[in-house]
Amino acid sequence: MANSDNPNRAIAQALNSWRQAGLDQMPQYSASMEANIGQAEQGAENPSPAAETIPDSAAQAPSVTEPVPESRVVPTSQPSLLTPDLTNTSSSPNMPDNKLIESSDPVEALAMLQKRVAQCRLCKVLPETRTQTVFGVGNPRARLLFLGEAPGADEDAQGIPFVGRSGRLLTDMIEKGMKISRDDVYICNVLRCRPPQNRNPLPEEAAFCRPFMEAQIKIVNPEFICCLGAVAAKNLLQTDTSIGKLRGTIHNWQGYKVVCTYHPSYLLRNPPAKKDAWIDLQLLMRAMGLM
Ligand code: URA
Repeated sequence: MANSDNPNRAIAQALNSWRQAGLDQMPQYSASMEANIGQAEQGAENPSPAAETIPDSAAQAPSVTEPVPESRVVPTSQPSLLTPDLTNTSSSPNMPDNKLIESSDPVEALAMLQKRVAQCRLCKVLPETRTQTVFGVGNPRARLLFLGEAPGADEDAQGIPFVGRSGRLLTDMIEKGMKISRDDVYICNVLRCRPPQNRNPLPEEAAFCRPFMEAQIKIVNPEFICCLGAVAAKNLLQTDTSIGKLRGTIHNWQGYKVVCTYHPSYLLRNPPAKKDAWIDLQLLMRAMGLM
């Protein structure tokens, strides 16, 4: 059986590679969750309409169901996180993110992480097919972080997330809808390399890239995360629940408040769903005190 068909093997392989990089565990990663990632949507610019089914509850007022603890660990403020020695795997209980956060200054920490990402060759195919890695863009201290799926062709060419057609819609959602500047939020993806033909991320690709994603989130340390589409939501929250059911609730991931909505590329293909995305953005705006 190929690795792509065997999530357990994919995760074991990912773990082994990270161990070789001096990191001793993948953070809270479950093989059963991995088996389901990527099945609900097609490629980043082309998710399946069926995957983003509008829930019956779309018209109801969304509710906050899970309390988010006021105090959360803020990794960048802890001196123990300044651990650039990748060969030391025994010092911290919070591996592996600690090892990837090399400065308490978000700008510096992101720059250092970006350099690591640019050199990453953990995946079998993506380092061969990418033009460049696509790290993240925006305010390194943003209060709101948008998480997409993976770079598409335009992002691969420019090295910046969400600059293609769906990126322009995302910019409109942020600037015309939420009335905040795109420069004030942070935007990144589950994957940092473009999958060929914009196919879904393979389980092992998501597993390999997850420590980078988690470190990036923890460096920016936003109060809110907005997952764009099923792949982002299922990956971050480690759940099999459909995007339709994840909508309408503020979830808690490691102390971060998470709102899930449809991927902009799905909205381009299914304009009627824009009204549901607007309901999601309003939930987010209310929680952020923006309306
Ligand atoms: N779709 C994504 O999910 N991410 C991008 O960066 C671009 C398109």
